[in-house]
Amino acid sequence: MYPLLEFFTYSIMPYITLILVITGLIYRFSGWFRGVKIKKYRFNKNIITFIEHIIMDIFLFRSIFRVSKITWFFAVSFHLSIFAILFGHLRPFGIWSKEQLAWLGKPVEQILVETLPTILGVVFTISAFVLLIRRIIYKPTNEVSIIDDYIAILLVLLIGLVGSIMRFMEHLPQYLIIDFLPGITFVLEKTPNETLTLIHILLAQLFLIYLPFGKLFHIVTTPLNIIIAKSLGLEPYTHLDKEDGFSKLDYLEADSCTSCAICTEVCPVYEATNGEYKSYIAINRLVRSIKLKPKLRSTSSIDADMVDDIYLCLLCARCKVFCPSGINTVALGISAREYLGKKNMMPPNYKLAKDSVDKLRNVLGLPNEERGMWNEYSYTPASIMEKGSDYVYFVGCMASFSPAVQDIPVAVNEILTRAGLNYTILAGEEWCCGYPLIIGGMRDGVEELVNHNIEVIKKLGASTVIFSCPSCFLTWRMEYPENGIRLLHHTQLINQLIKDNKIKLGHINAKVTYHDPCDLGRKSGIYIEPREIIKNIPGIEFIELKENREKSLCCGGGGDVEIIDENFPALVGSKVINMADESGVQYLVTACQQCKRTFMKAAKKVGSNIRVVDIAELVLLSMENA
Ligand code: SF4
Ligand code: SF4
Repeated sequence: MYPLLEFFTYSIMPYITLILVITGLIYRFSGWFRGVKIKKYRFNKNIITFIEHIIMDIFLFRSIFRVSKITWFFAVSFHLSIFAILFGHLRPFGIWSKEQLAWLGKPVEQILVETLPTILGVVFTISAFVLLIRRIIYKPTNEVSIIDDYIAILLVLLIGLVGSIMRFMEHLPQYLIIDFLPGITFVLEKTPNETLTLIHILLAQLFLIYLPFGKLFHIVTTPLNIIIAKSLGLEPYTHLDKEDGFSKLDYLEADSCTSCAICTEVCPVYEATNGEYKSYIAINRLVRSIKLKPKLRSTSSIDADMVDDIYLCLLCARCKVFCPSGINTVALGISAREYLGKKNMMPPNYKLAKDSVDKLRNVLGLPNEERGMWNEYSYTPASIMEKGSDYVYFVGCMASFSPAVQDIPVAVNEILTRAGLNYTILAGEEWCCGYPLIIGGMRDGVEELVNHNIEVIKKLGASTVIFSCPSCFLTWRMEYPENGIRLLHHTQLINQLIKDNKIKLGHINAKVTYHDPCDLGRKSGIYIEPREIIKNIPGIEFIELKENREKSLCCGGGGDVEIIDENFPALVGSKVINMADESGVQYLVTACQQCKRTFMKAAKKVGSNIRVVDIAELVLLSMENA
């Protein structure tokens, strides 16, 4: 019918497609190799977890199911349809053909070869149409649509539409005449319809060419990322084992983003600011622009909004839990800050915090000798730097210096003393663990802090370090080199002391709820111990918050955000206070000094009378009633 076009489509275009696809793949993959070096990797060797992630995350879209059952239905249908359509196109090669499936009997063969592909083809087309309408008409505020998104959906929609019409026409009588209006008649001819076939093939070739250049490349990268980054758990062994900036792994992760915007939907910052800040989207935009358009390495292309969004991310990892592509959003967020730091684009207060740690060894800018001041107000002061102690209590900067939370070390000290533990504190010899610098993208000098802290504990001969700060605990676990020292969060130790009958608990008649701190729950997996402790206290009625465990909201105090804006954390934390008030509890218990400080401010902000306490304070109160 169109000899020239047919010649072009069937004889020339396949070669052009092949060349452009190879060029696109080189362009895409070469970007990955611009990433900085990771010297040593950490990875998960547990085969069961590996298989679980492959099945649940690649094939069953577990993360999407957690967020919305409707979105999950569309996602599953859409992907199933793609497979069905691919199989449908393999029929000329004898795969999924009537002949091959004949042994199943006529009705089953009919369903597999005809009915199912037809239904899924229609679902595929409708899904693409819904996606397009959603972006154009509803314009969800949590998404940022760029031209790439429209091209991707439009191409998929057109392919599905033409394919569905062709399939429909296969079932027509030889001719179908439709009198549309007087004088206007359509004649539909039974397939093979050469025009539609030509359009379909051309569109498919365009799709292949577009694939390596556009967002739909996530069809390839998302499963790869789930296998490499999530199932194998591959990540820098410590941040000290990685150079500043985006690594090859970071680039793969950013390339796996489907722009589904689930991360924004579940982000506490996005919610608290009514959509003003879209942290993860900014991180992703930054990493993609650097990888794909090296010219953007000049800082002029990075706008101020993008920088604000990146530094207002709490690094709480809530988006990481829900991301269907298994992207380590927290590691990417830290790499983004390292990158901006190198370009001197970090907020000015960050430099003050860094100077303070470098010179004074604590993030609050106070003389480090005053670290042990809280101990002077303890009922039974702890020993300081006592050689031969079994345990060292590493207090952390905030609980050491901030009067609002010094009750925490006082309570921990009292519990450990009454339990008869042989322990000591480091006072002025304790240096900042390095956490605020690592997450702020300013790792320079952290190694010195790490080495000092390990050395001083080794000199005392202690075998176990106890933490009441989840961030110090996380940093020691994830960033410090292996050193043979056992690390325990105070919730783990107190729970064990209760089980061993080393401490006696008395009545507290109250309704109590528990907030999971991000660094203790999502990032360290400690959910059971704090709940066991609270439930062991006689008289307490324990009520779970609506958002708990890995879905727990951030208090608002993470990610060094307070360094930029001291009122921002309470804005985010108000949501948890409201949630706790709705559940009718008198106590909001947490296990982190930063959560406690933030919630106390947030409670004041929303006019709540709820009592915010650390779990150690609750335990001490109970011990006093025994
Ligand atoms: S990071 Fe994950 S959740 Fe966010 S848009 Fe990308 S794929 Fe979706
Ligand atoms: S880490 Fe937390 S604050 Fe940052 S983008 Fe993710 S959900 Fe939002």
